[in-house]
Amino acid sequence: MSYHVNEKGYYGQFGGAFIPEMLYPNVEELRQNYLKIMAEPDFKKDFDKLLKEYVGRPTPLYFAKRLSKKYNTKIYLKREDLCHTGAHKINNTIGQILMAKRLKKTRIIAETGAGQHGVATATVCALAGLECIVYMGEIDIARQAPNVARMKMLGAEVRPAISGSRTLKDATNEAIRDWINNPVDTHYIIGSAVGPHPYPDMVARFQSVVSEETKWQLKEAEGRENPDYVVACVGGGSNAAGAYYHYLNEPNVKLIAVEAAGKGIYTGESAATSVLGKEGVIHGSKTLLMQTNDGQITEPYSISAGLDYPGVGPMHAHLYETKRAEFISVTDDEAMTAGLELSQLEGIIPAIETSHALAIFEDKKFKPEDVVVISLSGRGDKDLNTYIDYFKL
Ligand SMILES: *Cc1c(COP(=O)(O)O)cnc(C)c1O
Repeated sequence: MSYHVNEKGYYGQFGGAFIPEMLYPNVEELRQNYLKIMAEPDFKKDFDKLLKEYVGRPTPLYFAKRLSKKYNTKIYLKREDLCHTGAHKINNTIGQILMAKRLKKTRIIAETGAGQHGVATATVCALAGLECIVYMGEIDIARQAPNVARMKMLGAEVRPAISGSRTLKDATNEAIRDWINNPVDTHYIIGSAVGPHPYPDMVARFQSVVSEETKWQLKEAEGRENPDYVVACVGGGSNAAGAYYHYLNEPNVKLIAVEAAGKGIYTGESAATSVLGKEGVIHGSKTLLMQTNDGQITEPYSISAGLDYPGVGPMHAHLYETKRAEFISVTDDEAMTAGLELSQLEGIIPAIETSHALAIFEDKKFKPEDVVVISLSGRGDKDLNTYIDYFKL
């Protein structure tokens, strides 16, 4: 069984490139070149250097002593929250900006929901001196004002998507439209392990530095490279892809994917794609997707903007289908409680996305000798107002 993409761009039955004819040249150019470019020693050197000196890698693998004591197992946190800009997303945007430069692109477009990927993209565009246009739903622009300000400060243009529900999926449609109209000079930086092949694989490879580091860090800490469990929250699936990557073919390492159940899986306000999703096509790939009986995409809901997505990347759909990963869904309330708990037990305020991964310990029991690595995907500064409102702090 392979958990990696095959040469046709599929993970089992999921993946592929379902794109309009007019997008074909752009995606094909990327597909033909991405592996070659990533394998160039110069590319690797530039990527590694920026990850070290600009992003601040390697990020620590921190043994969470008090949290471990509470749940009577050994919990390590992979501290992606300490990356520049506060989350794992920058690992991917650094890789893609270098890719865009190698492909001689001069203009970058991106979509963003909560604004985290928009900020990570605007950041690397400033770094590389490239023009940056970020599409964002009009509703999201209003509710994520601090991130809009950050993008502008970094020199990006934020263009509102004013059609449909005026949120992430509409911003994505606008970005695709832009790419069709600007096929030669523009690279589209997708922010998660989603989209047409080769995006999910390319994003997973850029994020794989997370599990590459975890291996040697755990060897130092525990005398072995492999933990018993790797746990990550899943929106589109990029932090999970990075945390799992070098463990995919290690059957002794159990993988846990945590989705947002919102107000409860069956309340109609949820983003638990593995339970509620059926096979369908979204953003250019065949995957599991929340939809009505006649195939209309259902509006997802989660208190966390980064998990508020109606699909999951094709790699994760395959991990679900083959049972390689166990999928657990966590409600808003459970996540918020876990976020407060980590803050007060370890002095680390996590992003609300990440809090979902931390919430599994209430229900799932581990053995005292188990080593559990959690992808601490981001820090909670951006979510402070949500925490404040929720806990009436
Ligand atoms: C965007 C985001 C996520 C969800 O995206 P994935 O691609 O599934 O990783 C999770 N955590 C944080 C902190 C984020 O910013």
